[in-house]
Amino acid sequence: MTEEIEVLLELIEDVLDKPKKVYNSKHQYGYDCPNCMDIKGLDKGDNKGNLEINLNKFIFHCWGCGVSGPLGRLFDDYGTKAQKKVYNLIKPEELKQEEKKKVKLRLPEGFTTFKDSNPRFIPHIEAMRYLTSRGITDEIIKKFKIGYTVNGDFSYRIIVPSYNSENVLNYYVARAWVPNKMKYKNPTVPKDEIIFGENNINWKKDVYLCEGVFDSFFLPNPIVMLGKKMSKLLFETLYMKAEGNIIICTDGDAFIDGVKLYHELNGGRLYNKIKIIKLPNDKDVCDLRGQIDEYYYEIK
Ligand SMILES: [Zn+2]
Repeated sequence: MTEEIEVLLELIEDVLDKPKKVYNSKHQYGYDCPNCMDIKGLDKGDNKGNLEINLNKFIFHCWGCGVSGPLGRLFDDYGTKAQKKVYNLIKPEELKQEEKKKVKLRLPEGFTTFKDSNPRFIPHIEAMRYLTSRGITDEIIKKFKIGYTVNGDFSYRIIVPSYNSENVLNYYVARAWVPNKMKYKNPTVPKDEIIFGENNINWKKDVYLCEGVFDSFFLPNPIVMLGKKMSKLLFETLYMKAEGNIIICTDGDAFIDGVKLYHELNGGRLYNKIKIIKLPNDKDVCDLRGQIDEYYYEIK
């Protein structure tokens, strides 16, 4: 065993206690999972060692609750400030380089909010006309910090920014309001690595799952999937954090996708907490304008 690994193992032990499983040859170690303890309300480990850490790849995965990610995240979530600092010093050089490469996302060139733009500027008028035609009010524009740009790669698009739980920009949706452009253009960040609008989600209340950002404006406590399929990250986050019901709100023509998702989600600690609505074929979630109560559908 190299000295680096010994130091790392000691540091991990400080955070997670002694490993319950040791596979030195694979550099793999199993600890009691703090997230499982939270879920089950235990103040001591269960001796199962379900949380496996691999020190070749610097990743962790729990066979009990399914949490996984880069090792650094364990220190972020469960370590002290000092332990985090030590980990960042002793982690391998390649990891440090990789993290540096991840450039911070910025709003597209020329982004302006409507509040800060001249209401007589033609693009401002056109963009507002488009938003109004989709039922989007001034209140919604303000709440979701919606803006637009007429410059650069995202010109003549409405921009809906997304912030993570620390209020750092993690994504945006760019919707063209002129007809001769592709409807949507995405930033370079892969959409399955972020949770859209995470800063606005109240995990203690019922959450409403929908496909697109423009649907989410009309739902209370919405979660946008950015497509018909749910990312692994969102699935795991829902599983860990959702405390209320999860209501699936797919467009009328995508009900089958919604039912599939219902069955995927309806298990474990989420069992019996999943609900689904069924819209007429020609109706979208945004047509509802919040009237969802009458569309609940019971799956037998
Ligand atoms: Zn776990």
